[in-house]
Amino acid sequence: MQSKVRVRFAPSPTGPLHIGGVRTALYNYLFARQQGGAFILRIEDTDRSRFVSGAEEYINEALLWLGILPEEGTIQGGKYGPYRQSERRDSYLQYAIRLVEEGNAYYAFDAPDELEAMRQRLKDEAGANPVYDAFSRKLMRNSITLPAAEVKALVESGVPWVIRLKVPEAETVTIHDMIRGEVSVDSAHIDDKVLIKSDGMPTYHLANVVDDYLMNISHVIRGEEWLPSAPHHVLLYRFLDWAEDMPRFAHLPLLLKPEGSGKLSKRDAERGGFPIFPLEWIDPGSGKPALGFREEGYLPEATLNFIAMLGWNPGTEQELFSLEELTEQFSLERIVKSGAKFDIEKAKWYNEQYIRRHSDDWLAGEILKSKPEGNISPDQVKALAIAGLMKERISFVKEIWTKADFFFRAPLQYDEGVIAKKLTAEAAGVLSDFSSSLKKALRNLSHSDFSELLNAVLTAHNMPAGKIMQVLRVAVTGSGAGPDLFTTLEVLGKDEVSSRIEQALQRIQPRS
Ligand code: GLU
Repeated sequence: MQSKVRVRFAPSPTGPLHIGGVRTALYNYLFARQQGGAFILRIEDTDRSRFVSGAEEYINEALLWLGILPEEGTIQGGKYGPYRQSERRDSYLQYAIRLVEEGNAYYAFDAPDELEAMRQRLKDEAGANPVYDAFSRKLMRNSITLPAAEVKALVESGVPWVIRLKVPEAETVTIHDMIRGEVSVDSAHIDDKVLIKSDGMPTYHLANVVDDYLMNISHVIRGEEWLPSAPHHVLLYRFLDWAEDMPRFAHLPLLLKPEGSGKLSKRDAERGGFPIFPLEWIDPGSGKPALGFREEGYLPEATLNFIAMLGWNPGTEQELFSLEELTEQFSLERIVKSGAKFDIEKAKWYNEQYIRRHSDDWLAGEILKSKPEGNISPDQVKALAIAGLMKERISFVKEIWTKADFFFRAPLQYDEGVIAKKLTAEAAGVLSDFSSSLKKALRNLSHSDFSELLNAVLTAHNMPAGKIMQVLRVAVTGSGAGPDLFTTLEVLGKDEVSSRIEQALQRIQPRS
């Protein structure tokens, strides 16, 4: 067992990093920081047929956006490098050859059609499992069935070959998982996985084990989909004489569909119109975009907090955690075994909470940064006031430009329900007089000035405030509800308010 905690996040660059992958990275990061260990990024790119250009850059950018940077990785470097498996390819073959020499792996020469014929034959024989294993390997062309001289000649002749793991017969392989406890598998259910492919590249299984060993990895924290591979890995550690140094395993639960059953998929995200990727991804093949949390307006700290809670909880009611708090409280033991339901409404809730926790100054800055093309930009003072008024009323910063568009332009439509019910001829008279008194004002008005002027007009008309407030709001903002009215008027300024009232009175008729 390693003394220092060293954990790795080992994605394959086969497309954009899924939110489940981000969770794996986050849990590795939290565990490393908490234990005073190292968090390492290793790019597992040995499967060249699935390689997608831009995917590695995407992974690094996503980790940077979320603020969970590795200490060692493709960008950071480190003394266990290279951190990209394709650059380590020369180191794997020697281990495979050692396994062959010691009788724990073998060369297999079967052509694809021979493999297919074997699968078909075994499928036809009831009860047989159509895989290359302790049973079927005896029927195939490999270094177990062929004489040694023929094997040597074949290997040297350049015909394609692979090296397969020789899984022992009739043995129970046990994995000690930190989340699931002991998981035992009968070796009859473990197939003879390919270790070296015909292109000379190692498969995931060999490269993963060799690198975890060479990089001194102490804990392997990864998704549940890798649990079926763990017995192969346990065997490899044993055959390579590395059992003493085998990392401890922790397999994280699946992320489930919003409905709660079945694995969360890209299709769910497309159907529901929500992101499951940290950043937007444009598929290089089809050009089709997939939504990203960042582009949809989720703050990185809200996204992290949301992801942290997918399958882990502190055992208390606390839901809001900074990265520091997560680091302190995180524990692998508190990760649930069952799947974790992905609920985008919860992500929205986190975003609202984080927007509220920020200062008005911060929100004002974000408002100015998020200004859509063609929109009027508020000045700093106005942005600050809008931030204060809207902070509790938005889930995303960009909603300012839709939910609070009345700060930037006169309304084009007016809430018809309010107009029909409350815009009496008398109310129109009050609005008109209020507008005139605004015009007469010589200086800028504060929210209490607006309130006093309106009260004076109401007193003259002998009308209670309750009869005019909502109509006034509709005339100025178009909507029947919104942030504090007099502060809104102050932000707009007396000239704009009076011109909007006049415009409204021209466009909407009081009820007769
Ligand atoms: N390359 C594997 C993946 O893409 C890594 C699995 C592991 O962490 O061992 O998820």
